[in-house]
Amino acid sequence: MNERELEFAAAAIRDADSVAALTGAGVSTASGIPDFRSEDGLWSEYDPNDFHVRRFRADPEGFWRDRLTLAEDLFGDAVDPNPAHEALAELESAGHLDGLITQNVDGLHQDAGSDDPIEIHGNGRRVVCTGCKRRFEADPVFERVRDGEAPPTCDDCEDLLKPDVVLFGEQLPEHALFRAQSLTESADAFLAVGSSLTVEPAASLPRVAAENGATLVIVNLDRTELSGQAEYDFRTDVTKALPRLVEEVLAE
Ligand code: ZN
Repeated sequence: MNERELEFAAAAIRDADSVAALTGAGVSTASGIPDFRSEDGLWSEYDPNDFHVRRFRADPEGFWRDRLTLAEDLFGDAVDPNPAHEALAELESAGHLDGLITQNVDGLHQDAGSDDPIEIHGNGRRVVCTGCKRRFEADPVFERVRDGEAPPTCDDCEDLLKPDVVLFGEQLPEHALFRAQSLTESADAFLAVGSSLTVEPAASLPRVAAENGATLVIVNLDRTELSGQAEYDFRTDVTKALPRLVEEVLAE
């Protein structure tokens, strides 16, 4: 990582009136959470069709049993936020990050101290009732499925519970998307971290920001779809680069 480039990127973030950040799977993998889309990712092991909303509707019992197995793979071992999560929380509490958009569903940004991140793919630690729309902690529900209650239903209205994540075939949550777009449109610096920026609509957020004249800073191990449009493109370990970048932003 080029130190001078890093100082310039930090200055752009420090001097911006509004800063937005977007995080993807690369921020979670550093905490030991398997990636879904990489070559040996989860979807090479699981059939995405089993987690399609059609399956949930047609066979909620089978869906929930498979979902339990998947959740055990994803969150089986206790996972903790890593220095990249912590750096973003620190940037926010120092007043240099106006909003954090995440494609991740693991809740690790909240664990690190981020306040109300915009979760465009939902949050796997919650379930939502398909009837009354109330949300509950997922862990006790998984426990019930483990004990043989499949599919689990709502204590209040007895309708089916669904993981509070965007399933294949489902629309992204409108409110989250709206918040993400507003944040992006007002940003004059946009920090994209740990995402290959290939999955829409998340990928279009940094593109829109850059087209609006925002300084686009990308931190990702590999080249991304938008690397050509980025003013700063750091191809490096996010857990090393983010703490350095944030340290530099807060240095003055
Ligand atoms: Zn309900």
